[in-house]
Amino acid sequence: MRALRLIADRKLELADVPAPPPPGEGEVQIRIKAVALNHLDLWGYRGMAFTKRQLPLVVGAEAAGEIASLGKGVTGFKPADKVVMYGAMTCGHCPACREGRDNLCENVGGIMGFHVDGFARDLVNLPARLVIPVPEGVSLRDAACAPIAFATVEHMLFDNAKLKPGETILVHAGGSGIGSVAIKMAKALGCMVITTVGDDAKAEKAKALGADHVINYKTERFEGVTRKLTVKKGVDVVFEHVGGENFNGSLLCLKRGGRLVTCGSTAGPTVTINLMQLFQQQYKIFGSFGASLRNIRDSLSKMAAGIVPVIDTEVKLADFERGLARLENREVFGKVIVSF
Ligand SMILES: [Zn+2]
Repeated sequence: MRALRLIADRKLELADVPAPPPPGEGEVQIRIKAVALNHLDLWGYRGMAFTKRQLPLVVGAEAAGEIASLGKGVTGFKPADKVVMYGAMTCGHCPACREGRDNLCENVGGIMGFHVDGFARDLVNLPARLVIPVPEGVSLRDAACAPIAFATVEHMLFDNAKLKPGETILVHAGGSGIGSVAIKMAKALGCMVITTVGDDAKAEKAKALGADHVINYKTERFEGVTRKLTVKKGVDVVFEHVGGENFNGSLLCLKRGGRLVTCGSTAGPTVTINLMQLFQQQYKIFGSFGASLRNIRDSLSKMAAGIVPVIDTEVKLADFERGLARLENREVFGKVIVSF
């Protein structure tokens, strides 16, 4: 079978590898149909000095497929069922896993496609516990965006920032995979959405998604425009995943007692925070990483109800690097899908 493997920093190889053995007890075997790309894939591809992993490593952190066969004792699935997979090898028995907070697992065995072999291969065996059925009417292409892009946004907006109908939210990088999802989810809830983009063509697309105000951060300072739009009051929530010099500007956009939730640092991981401003303005800052199995189920339900991902490009497995280049060059608007 085919497997796309990282063999060195910035070097992928499409290899012919042996198929996995029949699934063991409690496992299912899945035939992968679509992989969705995330910034995480780019980090893994470029190489991170501190990451514990062994090469070659099968890439692909977010995917959808069909059940190929069932191991002993597995119920609730049958061959050809459409499924998505949780993106990390959580243990299933620590207190966090038992409470359904899988992304706080105390014994996590690694993120798929980043620390351990991922989904860019024809067949994979996984514990059935980490496999979630795709509802009727949702395509595998769309479903592939549920485990990371959709579920991360679910976790950020609803578990952490507790976004409520009628609130105002600033979504950074509205053209990114998660930014485009955040705009759609916040609008579906009835929020006023301000978003930032890096060019005018993306501004039109963000408006078409429902964003009420779009700021081109290359030509305008987003903090100034946001304060003006909110009549100096500030927004209830900032959806952050950029970091760097953006971060303090984002705090300045918050109203007193506002919430900032972040899951990324694409422009740099280190920032300086003015503590006087933090406590006097009573800001709440949430770090968010990954999602729970429940977030993935809720994401798929939302897709079934019509909130579907924005697809930027579909590429074949052999063109995985072309998809990564679109992410790296900030050309994307929405998600890049690798089809099998
Ligand atoms: Zn656990």
